[in-house]
Amino acid sequence: MTFTVAIVGRPNVGKSTLFNRLIGKRLALVDDQPGVTRDRREGEAFLFGLRFKVIDTAGLEEAFDQSLEARMRQQTEQAVSEADLVLMLIDARVGVMPIDEHFAKFLRKGKTPIALMANKCEGKVGDIGLMEAYSLGLGEPIPFSAEHGLGSSDLYDIIKEHMEKAAEDKVVASPYIPPANLEAEEEEIPATQDDSEDHDFLDDDDFEEEDEEIVRGPLQLAIVGRPNVGKSTLVNKLLGEERLLTGPEAGITRDAISVEWEYQGRPIKLVDTAGLRRKSKIMDKVEKLSASDTIRALKFAQVVILVLDSDGILEKQDLTIARTVIDEGRALIIAVNKWDACPNKDEVMQLVRDRLQTSLPQVKGIPVVTISALKGQNLNKMLDAVFNIYEIWNRRIPTSGLNRWLSELLEIHPPPAPGGRRIKLKYITQARARPPTFAISCSLPEDLPASYSRFIENNLRDTFDLPGVPIRLHMKKGD
Ligand code: GDP
Ligand code: GDP
Repeated sequence: MTFTVAIVGRPNVGKSTLFNRLIGKRLALVDDQPGVTRDRREGEAFLFGLRFKVIDTAGLEEAFDQSLEARMRQQTEQAVSEADLVLMLIDARVGVMPIDEHFAKFLRKGKTPIALMANKCEGKVGDIGLMEAYSLGLGEPIPFSAEHGLGSSDLYDIIKEHMEKAAEDKVVASPYIPPANLEAEEEEIPATQDDSEDHDFLDDDDFEEEDEEIVRGPLQLAIVGRPNVGKSTLVNKLLGEERLLTGPEAGITRDAISVEWEYQGRPIKLVDTAGLRRKSKIMDKVEKLSASDTIRALKFAQVVILVLDSDGILEKQDLTIARTVIDEGRALIIAVNKWDACPNKDEVMQLVRDRLQTSLPQVKGIPVVTISALKGQNLNKMLDAVFNIYEIWNRRIPTSGLNRWLSELLEIHPPPAPGGRRIKLKYITQARARPPTFAISCSLPEDLPASYSRFIENNLRDTFDLPGVPIRLHMKKGD
């Protein structure tokens, strides 16, 4: 059995665009049977080394006389029945339409797992749709842009997770071998944009490596911070060219969504960053960076650099941004900029450490790097820190080691016994990476004090050397 993913959603949400992305400029297998499956396309998909079969349900709208809902239902039913995972797309720019709700309701009734994707999310207009998407009751939506190739890393995580679950029940054959009666055609995918930006959905060469962690594609980096701290200057320096003008005439970068470059042979994709945007003509320098600006920057980011001005260190607003980054599960680096012009370096450093300690005690070891964007000082050190934390954020710890640690910990510091009932913690496993997420089976999860969970989390962080990244710990009911 090949793991099969069906792409569903109302017309025009971007199903075919995603399908084309997933099969890439490779052989597209077009199943041309008449009837319900007319025009239905399926093919072998590749995503950072994952291989699976993908079914596109687009293009059937004109085939029937019935209402749109009935037609969609028909085509969807068929695809869903064959799928191990359903990707339901909405158009985040338009928001949730009644027909999407109808669709979601129908999908929720079935047994096939569903991942909700808020497509066309690349710009600010997509934010509302992304928020609305939660209302569909299909869990957390994945921000995505099929056209610009953003969000594929999250998609990878979801597909991988479901593949692993499915593999527990049955052996999943790989690679996918197409049925003999399907004719292979070379399909030309019309280029939707400059291909140079498209490395997120990889080229052929990228599939050579079998190690999934290596074939992950570029590190997605966002640079955030209050106005005037030096973000644009930093971005310019990093890219080594004045392509992102800091002046008001910087019209050319207005629509920039991402820029990719390399650091020591490792690709980095700078995503939706203030420094990538045109500055408004009358940029108010005291203008606040809103929470929604931060969330937008985080949408596609894996690592976030929070830039501070050494002149006004870790103000309330900075801490709010830092907290948002952590809450969203991203890895955070703090870059204290304008270090060249800082007269009281020791004092500033102490202040940063103190504030982090008091305001973000839940994440110990957030890297702090002092830089001068203007003079290009310490930028390598900063990027080293970026790759280092990215590695930690991706880390997977073997279950055996975790359980050994847990049983030792429980012996020394047993959980409390509220009302005389001892809470039992049995088994721990790392459910996910990116960020490291752990599940512990617990006899009375509701009764476990938060302080004890925090204690476990801190000990886990120290023992397994996971500094500076958010850690998620879920207590699951179990005996
Ligand atoms: P389908 O009917 O669901 O298969 O949708 P298509 O894949 O044909 O896409 C519908 C339209 O949306 C096309 O014009 C695409 O170029 C556009 N589109 C698809 N994905 C994106 C995206 O991520 N962002 C934007 N802005 N447009 C997209
Ligand atoms: P942004 O609003 O965060 O993008 O900030 P800009 O990059 O526009 O920088 C704001 C001001 O700070 C400009 O006048 C920069 O020249 C200055 N600046 C940026 N980085 C540095 C630095 O490392 N040292 C010094 N002394 N000034 C800097």
